[in-house]
Amino acid sequence: MKTVGLDISAIRKEFPTLSRKVNGKPLIYFDNGATAQKPSSVIDRIDQYYRNENANIHRGVHTLSQEATSAYEEARITIQRYLNAKYEHEIIFTKGTTDGINLVAFSFGEMLNEGDEIIISAMEHHSNIVPWQMLCERKKCVLKIIPMDNTGELKLEELDKLLSERTKLVSVTHISNSLGTINDIKTIITKAHNAGAKVLIDGAQSVQHLKVDVQELDCDFYAFSGHKIFGPTGVGVLYGKEEILNEMPPFQGGGDMIKEVTLEKTTYNTLPHKFEAGTPNIVGGIALGTAFEFLNELDMGAVNQYEQELLNYATKQLSKIEGIKFYGQAKNKTSVVSFLIDGTHPYDVGTLLDKLGIAVRTGHHCTQPVMQFYDIPGTIRASFAFYNTFEEVDQMISALERIIPMLKD
Ligand SMILES: *Cc1c(COP(=O)(O)O)cnc(C)c1O
Repeated sequence: MKTVGLDISAIRKEFPTLSRKVNGKPLIYFDNGATAQKPSSVIDRIDQYYRNENANIHRGVHTLSQEATSAYEEARITIQRYLNAKYEHEIIFTKGTTDGINLVAFSFGEMLNEGDEIIISAMEHHSNIVPWQMLCERKKCVLKIIPMDNTGELKLEELDKLLSERTKLVSVTHISNSLGTINDIKTIITKAHNAGAKVLIDGAQSVQHLKVDVQELDCDFYAFSGHKIFGPTGVGVLYGKEEILNEMPPFQGGGDMIKEVTLEKTTYNTLPHKFEAGTPNIVGGIALGTAFEFLNELDMGAVNQYEQELLNYATKQLSKIEGIKFYGQAKNKTSVVSFLIDGTHPYDVGTLLDKLGIAVRTGHHCTQPVMQFYDIPGTIRASFAFYNTFEEVDQMISALERIIPMLKD
């Protein structure tokens, strides 16, 4: 029961990079967790914008500026609808996940007091750790950690003990980029809300795999990057509930985020502009809208099922390799396999796979605490997208079978 409702070879044709060669071999791109390839529609949209439409937005009476403004604002609406946000002004354009989390850490963080508590988890990406450590230092707040177990699942029963009346925010990843764990964020959100805390979800690994509905989740913030969901780099989204965003002070000051400026005092613009100081990545926002239109045409249920089959197949085939050890064996996982092979160094395996045209990630994947938890320097990570195939998995397995004996002697 493969490829239900998905025509993989037709989909692959939409992604020009997938037909190139690397080191004389057809590229096998298994580094989707780091960034995804772009469909022609996104690439063409960027090209068209700079060829025909380039102008600054929100400030011109001339035709080009008005066209660019409506294209940018239409992209915001496309994203709002896709995520089922209540209002379009709850969609804040950012530079990416890191930028979105830093926005909340700074701005929401301004409203915190000494002794207030923030909870993150043991499997966070550095971008969902460091901004909170910086905030805790700045505001003398306390950072608490939801622990995880050996399979790479969060110990959610511990969350009840960590939550207190001082907890102001729980910030956790929806899906772990290094282990593939899909966290039970519904439960986390309910528990946090019951304790009176707000919740930020790091969605950097989610929108490309799962259908996300922010109202159904009832999260207060949801941050992700355009480049991991088939859009451009340098653009992302922070969703926030209107009520909370309205309470929060601006993050950066400058053009576009103001209502009126005098040399003595400034009043701020309404949402979303309050959080979008300066000329944004206009073409990035527009082309991110195009990436969402691409996602709109896919059946995300079928995508998810196909990726699960790829994951199961890859896991089964890899487990036949002698001395392999998997990291991240949560019951609920997305299409990421992280592993090590006895007697080999991940970096060497990655380098030799590249010689055969196969792109995987090696290292700590910006989750050093996860590597410290397992007491390893890093892993080899293959992360699949819906344009990957079973044949590509087979090729990686035979490549590994060739490589391992070379590294072991
Ligand atoms: C990639 C990633 C980030 C950071 O995204 P940027 O695009 O680098 O800002 C944060 N969290 C997770 C889980 C990620 O995978």
